[in-house]
Amino acid sequence: MDLFKKSGTELSCMLRSKECSAREIVSSIYTRIDSVEEKLGSYVSLTRDMADKKADIVDKKIAKGEIISPLAGIPVGVKDNILVKDVKNTCSSKMLENFVAPYNSTVVEKMLDQDCLIIGKLNMDEFAMGSSTETSYFKNTKNPHNLDCVPGGSSGGSAASVAGYETTVSLGSDTGGSVRQPASYCGIVGLKPTYSSVSRYGLVSFASSLDQIGPMGRTVKDVHLLYSTISGYDKKDRTTVDISNIPKEISELKNLSGIKVGIPSEYYLTDKNTDVIKSVENFIKFLEKSGAEIKTVSLPNTKYSIPVYYILSSAEASSNLARFDGVKYGYRASDYTNFQDMYKKTRTEGFGEEVKTRIMLGTYVLSSGYYDEYYNRAQSMKKMMKQDFDKVFEECDIIVTPTTTTTAFNLGEKINAHMDMYTSDISTASANITGIPAISIPCGRDLKGLPIGVQIMGKHFSEKLLFDVSNFYEKSIDGFDLEIKI
Ligand code: GLN
Repeated sequence: MDLFKKSGTELSCMLRSKECSAREIVSSIYTRIDSVEEKLGSYVSLTRDMADKKADIVDKKIAKGEIISPLAGIPVGVKDNILVKDVKNTCSSKMLENFVAPYNSTVVEKMLDQDCLIIGKLNMDEFAMGSSTETSYFKNTKNPHNLDCVPGGSSGGSAASVAGYETTVSLGSDTGGSVRQPASYCGIVGLKPTYSSVSRYGLVSFASSLDQIGPMGRTVKDVHLLYSTISGYDKKDRTTVDISNIPKEISELKNLSGIKVGIPSEYYLTDKNTDVIKSVENFIKFLEKSGAEIKTVSLPNTKYSIPVYYILSSAEASSNLARFDGVKYGYRASDYTNFQDMYKKTRTEGFGEEVKTRIMLGTYVLSSGYYDEYYNRAQSMKKMMKQDFDKVFEECDIIVTPTTTTTAFNLGEKINAHMDMYTSDISTASANITGIPAISIPCGRDLKGLPIGVQIMGKHFSEKLLFDVSNFYEKSIDGFDLEIKI
């Protein structure tokens, strides 16, 4: 029985009906990891002991006839910037190569309370800066659909491990698109929740006003399950809000009548004939056939999303990453003459090129001479973008766009083409800038067989609607096409 192939909801049913044990799930997942990890490179570290111990707890509860929680016994992989107590948390950086987390992040604490099985920590772009996982200090992660291609980033390990059946679900983090873009490239589901609905306590900060932890899985229901577990108010993160009165359960819709769908023309400017645009247009036709009302709308400031995102995120990163100074955390250079020399050498040797580029860019836009010209202007543009979305949401319930303009590119193809790499987030960054929720689900493949993702965005705290529509589509097509070649 290939337990590693099952979805979380299937595994949960099997555990309850005693068709399998949690121990068997753990061993199936690690057998799969043994056979494909060398090719995929999804994990930075594995936590088998922890998973085994948790599995024993679940099996004992089942044997005693206790009621287990929906996530109990389900394998979860965790991006390596989300703290798991006593496990290394590297952020895929030399700076934190040997840093062991002293406490659990809130999301991990919540998952462990539900008895889920933590399988390991997942590879990522260094400090979550990148779109291909190639800025990882340790290794490249490959796309399970084509090993010559990137899995996307920065949560590349989180996406590749789920698509490659090395875990059932995973957690990523999304500052400008890092859950949705890799989900799209790897043919899985990924949610960027409403800003403030998931605690960031224990997530290593990149850009605090944009960062959100997001769940990833092969089915909408699995992603929903994980989201329901990790979301909600946390006294350790004062930006979180109480969402306990907002209904979360998925409703099994019969059709989509009454749902108004906005199609923003600015997101469809690329050559109309690309496989991506064709697949997304087919998805829109499906929505219309199912009873949804389709409207063309305008988000005129979309063209500013990339500059605004890179100015704000780099500014915040330059401040957040100041803590890595050779004293408080992680790496310290071995040869230095005085304190300043130690600080300089530590940061020169400990950070990779991309991280240093962002720190310099962020320092520049915050410097007294340029603060008004860049940082303040970006803040004004952020407000205008928010107004654009508010206006569209007066007449629409959801907005549908491609998640990315292309499918997965080849390893090495964009590593020196900074602007090309940065524009990977052209369709996703707006949701972070405005704080709204957005989900990416698979909606087809290109001619080379690589997955295509469609993005559905909604008003703040409208996750339920995003799940309802996505689940309706998944059911109508009899499940997503999850076939991979390895
Ligand atoms: N690719 C974007 C960047 O490099 C987004 C990263 C993210 O969402 N963490 O900054």
